[in-house]
Amino acid sequence: MIKIKDNFGRYVNYLRISITDRCNFRCIYCGQGRDFKFLPCSEILTYEEILRLISIGQRLGVEKVRLTGGEPFIRKGFLDFLGKVMDKFPDIDLRITTNGSLLKKHDIVKLKQIGIKAINVSLDSFDEKKFRYITKNGNLYSVLDTIYSLIQEDIRTKINVVVLKDINDDEVIRFANFAVNNPVDVRFIEFMDLTRDNKWNQKFFVSAKDILSQIYKEFELIPEILEKKTKGPARRYKIKGGKGRIGIISPLSDHCCNRCNRFRITADGSLKTCLFAKKSYLLKGLLRNKKISDDIIVKVMLKAGERKPIGRELYLKDKCEYLGMYKVGG
Ligand code: SAM
Ligand code: SF4
Repeated sequence: MIKIKDNFGRYVNYLRISITDRCNFRCIYCGQGRDFKFLPCSEILTYEEILRLISIGQRLGVEKVRLTGGEPFIRKGFLDFLGKVMDKFPDIDLRITTNGSLLKKHDIVKLKQIGIKAINVSLDSFDEKKFRYITKNGNLYSVLDTIYSLIQEDIRTKINVVVLKDINDDEVIRFANFAVNNPVDVRFIEFMDLTRDNKWNQKFFVSAKDILSQIYKEFELIPEILEKKTKGPARRYKIKGGKGRIGIISPLSDHCCNRCNRFRITADGSLKTCLFAKKSYLLKGLLRNKKISDDIIVKVMLKAGERKPIGRELYLKDKCEYLGMYKVGG
């Protein structure tokens, strides 16, 4: 099997695919002070095109696919689509990232029936008012209901918290306690200022080191040594006496570019080799054209792989393009 390999010896075996750029929330860190602007529906990859892309990816050694957005559950037919992906690609490790607000109890039962084993839910505050402030219009309790239902259905749940200075950094211990009392991974994520050009609000940045030192004051943490194969961007810790775990994702203070194994596909079918890369490979036209063979798309993906950069350098050199995470697919 030909695999996607770059010039730094990294293999790409993970696709993050944005199902839509649309979202019912307007998280302050995601839009970064700018208006959310959504693509016309006709520009968004159809479900059939996404299936074709996954199948080509699998030919090239892709083992894991994350479906994200925008908010993936806002797209009509997403649950049925998940069923199709599971049927067609039983060997793919399928994951989802969601804000958790649109899922009802019966949807979660369906997720379980379909065979979804793991899901990431974003939650940045346990305080109703603060939650509404961060998301602009979100309802905390709908997200909490989703999290408890996922736990009940025994679907592995990871909670993503973007830590923001003077907004929710006073809740780090509360989040850690949630991982003590529930069988979930709470993953603290460093805020990334993706605007770079106008330095939207770097004052919000809290380093992984500061987050960890808060937690170490209250809990005994046992670092986990990860298998090379499963090494993701998170550093993980067990909490002594706790049901769940803590994870720290530090894209800025301690980046993990040397282990990066992913391509991102935007909702309109652009392949980005790195969150910070300016160059995109436009796959939509190719996927949409039945006369274009899979072999041609394979060639484009292999070429993109060869040119995958070390993104940290792009970020530091201020050369990255601003794309809110809802656009690029977080
Ligand atoms: N709507 C879904 C959600 O919120 O989980 C999926 C898409 S969202 C863009 C994916 C992840 O990106 C979320 O966990 C979110 O917290 C994270 N994210 C968005 N903007 C970010 C930023 N500026 N810095 C760090 N993480 C960010
Ligand atoms: Fe929507 Fe997720 Fe962005 Fe929040 S982080 S605005 S929920 S896409």
